[in-house]
Formats: sequence, structure tokens, C-alpha cells
Amino acid sequence: MSLPLNPSAFPIVTNTKCRIRHVVAGSSGNNISPQNTRTSSTNSIVTSPTKQVVPKTSANQNTTPNHVTKAASAAVAVPADTVEAATIETEKVAPIETSNKLELQRMRNGGFWNRKWHMMDVTHLLLTVGAHGLALSAPFVFNAGAVWVAFVLSLMTGISKTLGYHRLLSHKSFKLPKWLEYCFTYCGCHFGQRDPIFWVSVHKNHHKYTDQERDPHSPREGFWFSHFGWYYYHEYLAMKPEIGVYSNVPELKAQWFYRFLHDTYVWHIIGLGVLLYFVGGYPYLAWGMGARMVMANHFSFLVSPVCHLWGGRPYNTSDTSTNNGILALLTFGEGWHNNHHAIPKSARHGLEWWQFDSTWGVIKFLEMVGLATDVYIPTEADKKRTKLSLLTNAASI
Ligand SMILES: [Zn+2]
Ligand SMILES: [Zn+2]
Repeated sequence: MSLPLNPSAFPIVTNTKCRIRHVVAGSSGNNISPQNTRTSSTNSIVTSPTKQVVPKTSANQNTTPNHVTKAASAAVAVPADTVEAATIETEKVAPIETSNKLELQRMRNGGFWNRKWHMMDVTHLLLTVGAHGLALSAPFVFNAGAVWVAFVLSLMTGISKTLGYHRLLSHKSFKLPKWLEYCFTYCGCHFGQRDPIFWVSVHKNHHKYTDQERDPHSPREGFWFSHFGWYYYHEYLAMKPEIGVYSNVPELKAQWFYRFLHDTYVWHIIGLGVLLYFVGGYPYLAWGMGARMVMANHFSFLVSPVCHLWGGRPYNTSDTSTNNGILALLTFGEGWHNNHHAIPKSARHGLEWWQFDSTWGVIKFLEMVGLATDVYIPTEADKKRTKLSLLTNAASI
């Protein structure tokens, strides 16, 4: 795998184009164009792009395809109208402009300790450290009831987060009655990845600017930063234009329930911990809030780096997304990430019969009993069209 994992300044154009060429050509993609990789570790702020993004239409007109793209074009030979079929949300944009030059420079240098620590970062870091402490003590207070509680809470909060936060609120893959939507999103908040306004805003940015500077958790900033570092870096997230003021989730900000969860999130987490302690004592707290949250969140956060580094790419998306079956098992279907980037609106991420997707199973059940409506899943023809149009797009770059 050839992605630069060292902290790096972002070029305006990622190496995606190079990778796509290798994918199209059937090679492993080990060579990265020098234009698209960092060549210096200086502290200067990169304000001018190393290479300008050219809109795809212009690129088609002005660029002479090399032998790879010619071969791919000839092999694909897709009718022009099928190109419209792919559901792709990614946008190519200019680097971030901000008056906060010092923090921007730190961000681009991948700094973690030498940076601003917002009160929000400290709060969430303390919660995380507390959860890890509880998790470490859990084996010493083993209790079958506590393990059972942790297991049930893992399922409830995990499915609620993937179903409610992700497929319902972020991608509007289906509809639920408002009361049920609020039940799922409230339950999802106890998964431990903050409130829906924050999560959906971050996730929308990830899809819109995948692999670019505005992507909030790209592995191009380092594996561990992509895994969890970004989560404790308020200034870094605030510089991503939409996340800073949550301007990309006006529909959630308009609802008192989500504003309430946004303002009081931490207290709900603490409240569940207190409740578990009073019900089952320390073992319930250690397993229900420690072991459960630590395991579930490490698996879930691993999707950001792992599913942009390793795994299969049945869809030749213009990003680095991959499918990872092991993570899909551990994250209620979220590991089918390449499928998801190819067709983000699909309520089903495991698009093949053998790709197990437990969240999809729950959505299907809700549809069968009449609670989920307008459920979008691509047909076989849609999937085929998307594959062909992505190949065509890649070949034309
Ligand atoms: Zn992704
Ligand atoms: Zn998504």
C-alpha cells in the first residue's frame, strides 16, 4: 500500500488519480506521482497548490490520455448516459483559507501535542481515559450479568448509531416516524461518538471532501490521527469550514431534540454510567461503560484508516475507500466502505448476498413491519451502471 502515512502537508490534488490509473491497469499502484506527494518537511504553510484541480469536463478536453487510459477507455466502452448513473458526492475544492494561520500550520504538520487544547478536547479525552481505565479493570470484576449488559448495550447502541446517525440522518437512505428516529438517535448517542449534529456534520464532510484537506479523518494525516487523533482536536475540526459552525446540518440544528443532545451530550454518558452503577455496582460500570465503549469505538474508528488503506475495491471510486469484511462484521456492516462510497444513499452497505450487513437486516425488518419507508437500495442494474461509469470516469482522468 503506497499511501503516505507520515504527517504531511496536503497537496491540493491527492494521489487518487495516480491510484485510479493503477487500479484501471490492474497493477498494485506502488508508484505515486512526485507532483502529488510531499517533498519537503518545512514549516512553511502551503498556500499554493502543487497542481491545480481541473474539472473533469475540462480534463477530458485538454488532456491527452496515456496508454493506460486509452486501453481502459477501449475496454469499458460505456454509453455516455450511464456516466450520470453513479451516485458520487465527492467535490474537489481549494485548500482551506483561514485567519488562524498558526493552527493551520500545526494541522498541516500533523502536530498532536504541540497544538491548542480546547476544553472540549480535554473533556472527551478524560472520558476516553476513564473508559479505558474501567475496561482494564473489567476482567478483575468478571460477572456474567455485567458481560450480558455490555453485550446488549453494544448491540443496541452500535446498531442505533449506524442505522440512526449514519444511514438515516447522514444519507437519508430511508425514513422513520419521528418518535422512532429520536429513539434510535438517542440510543446511538450512548455509543460514545458524540451527538448527531457533530457526527453527521463530520461525516458529510468526509464524503464531500474524501482524501482532501477538508476530510476530517483521512489516513493521509497518519494512521493513528485518522483512527482517533482528529476526534480530540477541536481547532482542527473547527477549521474545516462546514464542521466549524455545523452549516452542513441545518435540518438537525432546526430540531430542539438534536440541539438539546448537542448541548448536553456528556451528561447523558455520565448518566448512563451512574445508572449502571446503581443497578449492578462496579462490575456493571466497568463492563457496560468501560469494556463495551472501548471495544466498540476502537472497531468503529478503525473504519476511517483501515477502510481507506486495505481491502477490496469492487467499485473504482475516485477516492481510496476499500471494503473490509472483518471490520464489517465488527461494525454492523460499516466495513463495506467502498460499496458505501460508490453508492452512499444505499441503505444496504453489504451489496452482495455474501456481504453480511446486520444494520441492513434491522432496516429490512423495520420496512417489513411498516415502520421504515422510502428505503433506497440499488438494483443489480444500478450497481452495474455505477461500476461502469466509475471506470469510465477514472479512464478519462
Ligand atoms: Zn470513507
Ligand atoms: Zn457515509
